[in-house]
This record gives sequence, C-alpha cells and structure tokens, in this order.
Amino acid sequence: MWNKVTEKTKNDFIWLSNLSPEQLRVMRDHGTEPPGSSPLNYEMRSGTYSCAGCHSPLFHGDMKYDSGCGWPAFFTVIDGAVETEIDHSHHMVRTEVHCSRCKAHLGHVFPDGPKPTGERYCINGVSLKFKKEESE
Ligand SMILES: [Zn+2]
Repeated sequence: MWNKVTEKTKNDFIWLSNLSPEQLRVMRDHGTEPPGSSPLNYEMRSGTYSCAGCHSPLFHGDMKYDSGCGWPAFFTVIDGAVETEIDHSHHMVRTEVHCSRCKAHLGHVFPDGPKPTGERYCINGVSLKFKKEESE
C-alpha cells in the first residue's frame, strides 16, 4: 500500500516543497503524529480545517468534538472532501482517510463516534490548516 500511495501522490510534488519533514512523514508516508501533540486538539472555534497540502476544505469547526483520543476528531466530513481505503498496517484493519484532491494521508476513521453519524475521524493535526471564521 505504501508504494501505491507514493505512486498516487508522486505527481503532486507541488505541495511537497511546502511542507515540513514531519508533515511529509505523516501525509506522504502515512505516519502518525505523537498523541496530544497538536495544538488543534484544543481548537474549538468556528472555522474551516483545510488540507495542509492542497488547501482543500475538509472539515468545519462544528464537525469537531473532543474525543479524548489525542488527535483532532470530527464526527463527519465535508461532502466529497476525503476518500477512504482499508489499511492493514500494524496488524490492524483500519479505515485510512486521505484528501480526495491531493491524496495526502490525514488519519483514520473509526466506528465509535458520537451520534448521529457514529463516526470518529481521527486526524493528524499536522495534516490540517485551521482558519478561524472572520467575526462579523
Ligand atoms: Zn489535499
């Protein structure tokens, strides 16, 4: 799968030059940031979370909730913003989540989220760029 994702993303080197080594480790090589490391864990303002690679909007602030899992968590996603793929790495079967536009790895989705969706999008903060809503 690693090779496949590299294959899928190799034409998207425009964003590779704009990201930090840690972002590339997560977003291109399917790494995971250390739990609790992202300042976005504590971000609860309204605004938009976009892909750090291509700036495609992925989540709105009101889709976020505090899951206590150590990573920013959302119970749903902007329509069509992400794609999923079954991930068999680390001897687990998980559902991998990546940006539908640039294919950057974002995190995983688990079926233990809150109602009404029951989904928990567990997303690496380094894969996201948060833009606070302008106050009116
Ligand atoms: Zn993207």
